[in-house]
Amino acid sequence: MHIIINHSILEIVEGDITRQDTEAIVNAANEQLRVGGGVDGAINRAGGPRIQEEARRIGYCPTGQAVITTGGDLKASFVIHTVGPIYKDGRQGEPELLASCYRESLALARARGIRSIAFPSISTGVYGYPVADAARIALGKVKAYLQQYPDIRLVRFVLFGQEAFEAYAAALGELAQE
Ligand code: ADP
Repeated sequence: MHIIINHSILEIVEGDITRQDTEAIVNAANEQLRVGGGVDGAINRAGGPRIQEEARRIGYCPTGQAVITTGGDLKASFVIHTVGPIYKDGRQGEPELLASCYRESLALARARGIRSIAFPSISTGVYGYPVADAARIALGKVKAYLQQYPDIRLVRFVLFGQEAFEAYAAALGELAQE
């Protein structure tokens, strides 16, 4: 399922982000950039030790920001690590911080000349962000970015499981109507 924005594609698929052949994939990291569970664990397992070696040298990434490392053994050349907000009640700046993750990841990709990028659903695992709300923010932010900067040609959301996919499909349907 996809929509076209300018000349770029915004698409959603159900699957495993570690298997994507986009130039960059995005990791839902923690501020310490230490290997965690969820998508972070999967990316580090599939990509091998070089990712964590570089992440350790960088050392820290504040919530809402993004840093970049090699993709190690992955098909993707780069991993962009962004730190999503831990969800409390939605009134602690969580929506702005989540939007910032997408904007900063895309800005970093663009600065490196990366033209295709895959995102997981940031913050909706252990960090507890309600997936319907997160999907609206994620897709809305990416759409706005692609309208402004057409040089990124493909943004793919790789949703882990049917529930996440359906939430993103509903949000993409809403965006397509606008
Ligand atoms: P966070 O701490 O930001 O919530 P998690 O890794 O716990 O990060 O979860 C983020 C999302 O990534 C969740 O929706 C989870 O189901 C999903 N996820 C876990 N493994 C993968 C994978 N291999 N590919 C894509 N998404 C994944």
